[in-house]
Amino acid sequence: MKRPACAACKNQRRKCDEDCFVAPYFPAEKTRDFEAVHKLFGLHNIVNLLQNLPLEKRSDAVISMVYEANARVRDPVTGCTRILSELTQRLNALKAELNLVQNKNAFYRTLKQQQPGQQNMVHNNPQQLQESSFCCKKTDCWN
Ligand SMILES: [Zn+2]
Repeated sequence: MKRPACAACKNQRRKCDEDCFVAPYFPAEKTRDFEAVHKLFGLHNIVNLLQNLPLEKRSDAVISMVYEANARVRDPVTGCTRILSELTQRLNALKAELNLVQNKNAFYRTLKQQQPGQQNMVHNNPQQLQESSFCCKKTDCWN
């Protein structure tokens, strides 16, 4: 059974033979993805990029191009940049939260090692608990 023309050949209105270079990456059902990638990068650049990559990295490159092109379709002004910026902000917020939890954890470990009489003294001093929430400045700290 003959397979349908790949998305690239369909778009370019040319015959798609069995050894079509682009067919494995943009099969017929990926027409929308190809159109987005084609619009952003152009067919020449797509083929050029794929030819300059080792075979095992080509699929990942196509996934990356499709992601970037679809992001550009959804948001023509910022594309992937906005997504990256949002993820970076979220990562930084999570690092800060992790740092806070690690500091609280270290504080409670220290508290556990203290004498019972000293624990009450620290528990009754909320200022001391607040101060322990800041960056630990240890070598394993992410900040
Ligand atoms: Zn083709």
